[in-house]
Amino acid sequence: MASPIQEHLEKTNKEYASNFTQGHLALPPAKKYLILTCMDARIDPASAFGITLGDAHVIRNAGASARDALRSLIISQQLLGTREIILIKHTGCGMSTFKDEDAHAVVKKNVGDEAAKSIEDLKFLAFPDLEQGVRDDLEFLKRHAAIPEEITLSGWVYEVESGKVRRVE
Ligand SMILES: [Zn+2]
Repeated sequence: MASPIQEHLEKTNKEYASNFTQGHLALPPAKKYLILTCMDARIDPASAFGITLGDAHVIRNAGASARDALRSLIISQQLLGTREIILIKHTGCGMSTFKDEDAHAVVKKNVGDEAAKSIEDLKFLAFPDLEQGVRDDLEFLKRHAAIPEEITLSGWVYEVESGKVRRVE
């Protein structure tokens, strides 16, 4: 039995695929850049940041965390040739609404002791201040030995209220 979400996917994909003409694109991103942003449902990276299919990698996770994205960042750069990182956090981010210990407590309460123990070393990487969060992640990337110095870095904030993006660093 397909869930309503699965049915929706199949229906909308059928329409999408019937008009699809981009099957010839190469694997490495044509414009050699990547955007790291949050998984927040209110962000539409392709539209908001002007990404054309095939041009860029888009890495998304909770809070646009550079630490969390490291594996994908390195693959993007070393195996697929990207040379620029655009880091975009956003206003109203859920990752500024709790502390790591709160998330651990919720897991313990909802899923149980065994679950809590299984993730006791996991860092949720919440950040209290948005702009400082952007600067901290850029600093992490700048200092990281596996991110080459010649990689171009910039940090931005996307406003979910206005759709506008502004540069932090
Ligand atoms: Zn967010």
